[in-house]
Amino acid sequence: MPRHGRMRMSDFFDRREMVRDFFQAQEGILRNFYSLHERGGLELHFESIATLKDVFRLEDRCFRCIDDRTPGGLHAAGPVILMDEKKGVDMLRRTRAEGIYSHTGCSAAAIAFEDLSENMKKFYENPDNYGMFYAKRMAKKADIPYMGHILALPHFNMARLAVYDGTGSFDNSKLETIGLPPAFVISRRYHSDAETAMKEVSLALTAATSSQGFGRLIKAGKTPFLILVVGARQNEFSLNRLMEEAEEVAKDFGGKVIVDGFVAPA
Ligand SMILES: [Zn+2]
Repeated sequence: MPRHGRMRMSDFFDRREMVRDFFQAQEGILRNFYSLHERGGLELHFESIATLKDVFRLEDRCFRCIDDRTPGGLHAAGPVILMDEKKGVDMLRRTRAEGIYSHTGCSAAAIAFEDLSENMKKFYENPDNYGMFYAKRMAKKADIPYMGHILALPHFNMARLAVYDGTGSFDNSKLETIGLPPAFVISRRYHSDAETAMKEVSLALTAATSSQGFGRLIKAGKTPFLILVVGARQNEFSLNRLMEEAEEVAKDFGGKVIVDGFVAPA
């Protein structure tokens, strides 16, 4: 579908069909999770996966967006485009980040772009350019390399699930090895405070339940979005505490979002 110019009716139906196909492809996995969740068995399900440990080994410590189409490494929205600059630079330094990536079609960059003055909007032209520029600027300030602009495909968020990660080492390039579908990941462990991380969970839920994601296919009752909390041993990032944070965000989305979780292996 051309980015600019008129959209043909056939493009619209092709896109709608594609979104539906991606949604349906995950139905079996999600249905199993819904049923485990209802029976209170999702925690045990994950904790009994023999290869679970392997998912908590990062291949690199570069920052990427929380987006489901930016696999691997550490995750903050944009990345770090929605927090104030000092907090962003501090996050990159504190976590010993090895680099930073931006990506196409970033909803966090789109929000930040909207907040710019008209002059600045004209200067950057579009959210994509701004997201790229911002990541480069943060790289320079934190003295780490800018790694590039990830081409995020398809042109919509295809996740029915978000991982709220208290360990900071959950690797979303290995989702399939533990039977997980595409997922947003918020590296809660490395956000300076709960509020900043919760704002990013809310952003993921907004994307997923709007036309940027699966929209109305996410329904209360039958096909809710799932926040999967990964608790750590430390009290500050315990399963209970992070479940409370996630539930607080989920509340704003009516019954469309359910929360469950497990404790990461030691
Ligand atoms: Zn993004």
